[in-house]
Amino acid sequence: MGFLDIIFPVNCLECGKETKYLCDNCLAKVGNARLFCLECHKAAIDGATHAGCKKKYSIDFAISAWGYSGVVRKAILKLKYNFAYKIADELAWGFTKKLVSEVSVLPKDALLLPIPLYKSRENWRGFNQSEKMGEIVADKFGWEYNLNVLIRSKKTKPQAELSGRQRAVNLQGVFSLSRDSLKFSSYKLPLVLFDDVLTTGSTLREACKVLKRNGAKTVWGLTIAA
Ligand SMILES: [Zn+2]
Ligand SMILES: [Zn+2]
Repeated sequence: MGFLDIIFPVNCLECGKETKYLCDNCLAKVGNARLFCLECHKAAIDGATHAGCKKKYSIDFAISAWGYSGVVRKAILKLKYNFAYKIADELAWGFTKKLVSEVSVLPKDALLLPIPLYKSRENWRGFNQSEKMGEIVADKFGWEYNLNVLIRSKKTKPQAELSGRQRAVNLQGVFSLSRDSLKFSSYKLPLVLFDDVLTTGSTLREACKVLKRNGAKTVWGLTIAA
């Protein structure tokens, strides 16, 4: 226990019990994510895109750990508006532990790329929770991490306000690659796109398209909750 923990006791975001933000009990109550094919939205074993649905630039796997509910949802919402390293660390740690014990197909070596936010003065929060949690997840899996490959080059409407089809249109052409990533086509590692929440999958699909157009071979989408 550190000095700050003594002054500010840590309480579970769901039940209020002390010692952790996401207590084991509440975390165990959150259901598993439904894994689905990002092309047809039907169930998919191990989150693998169906062979029959796959197009040239389709994502290969989309994996989430939990349903977007309970203490996981509370933690993600909290991080959206106020980054707290300890909550992010507990969430990322629980996430990797769950994936290791329940998902059989994760890549051994990979390069993790967090989904970027549009950077502007209006981005008043000044942080990106997916960047910070992605760094923790990459570190725990021993993967490489780079937050400067993908750029969000266009301002978009908040996805939450739009329907499924509108979401896809809203995101067209929104991502590009930085100059850093010109060496990309020679990159042999699987790429892992990381985001906090998966809804329709438009964001992952659009980011994957950019990576594959530029020579990426295998692309995974990894999200905390779906
Ligand atoms: Zn609890
Ligand atoms: Zn499918």
